[in-house]
Amino acid sequence: MSLQLDPRRRAMLAEMGVHLPAAAETVSETASVNTRLKAAPAAVASPASASRAAADGRSASPSRPAVAGATTAPVESAALGPIAHLSWPALQQAVAGCQACKLCEQRRNTVFGTGAPDPAPGEAPQVEWMIVGEAPGENEDLHGEPFVGQAGQLLDNMLKAVGLERHAAQAPSGRVYIANVLKCRPPGNRNPHPDEVARCEPYLRRQVALLRPRIIVAMGRFAVQSLLRDSVADIESQPLGRLRGQVYAYEGVPVVVTYHPAYLLRNLVDKRKAWADLCLALSTANRPQG
Ligand code: URA
Repeated sequence: MSLQLDPRRRAMLAEMGVHLPAAAETVSETASVNTRLKAAPAAVASPASASRAAADGRSASPSRPAVAGATTAPVESAALGPIAHLSWPALQQAVAGCQACKLCEQRRNTVFGTGAPDPAPGEAPQVEWMIVGEAPGENEDLHGEPFVGQAGQLLDNMLKAVGLERHAAQAPSGRVYIANVLKCRPPGNRNPHPDEVARCEPYLRRQVALLRPRIIVAMGRFAVQSLLRDSVADIESQPLGRLRGQVYAYEGVPVVVTYHPAYLLRNLVDKRKAWADLCLALSTANRPQG
């Protein structure tokens, strides 16, 4: 795939720390396509002890396997149940009032997601891209919007580099929606617990079903584990770095794996890989879909 970069996008890339020689604009098409579709919801198991800051995709070493957790017992994904039939506004209301886990006790705001404007009252935004992060942090909890801190600034620059803009009704590469696996902030920015992920997952699944994006970019270990647990065997033991470069599927939507922006802020050297991931996402989104 060849990506034409105008000076503005080159400047965005430079901000991301990616300085491309002319030849590097051509992204290898060697990434294999994994078309395995997801099976029925399966067990959710996530190592819980690795500190949030050490999470792969937010960790010091992307190739380091996840640290064994205090609890690795699988937790059944909460059944979609009535959530599977909610309209976009009803889903927003359901999240705003959710008390399915203890995170509701300390939150200031739920963080449903943000992106392209809703086309009409009651309708989900029409987007081509969906970004899935981990969970709200302190700023997000305060503002009720995902990725508003430093990591959010980097995310915005990454999006601009591929021709996307957070709130734009139109952008060169389409419209985008940004959401997290968890809709409430884990206290002290600790790692999400497996039961929290399991209880929140139906909301994300319904968001995907209503948005029907052309591509999902899973950022960081928790997003990757949540979205790919039904299509990748033993997902918890897979280092994020080894899952990159393939196209997976979640609810029939192609998924590309990349590092979490917070991780990239600390590991500048991997920004180039994140750029390659975004280019894979771009070429996948632009591919004719049947
Ligand atoms: N990190 C995330 O994964 N999501 C946010 O919304 C903010 C930080």
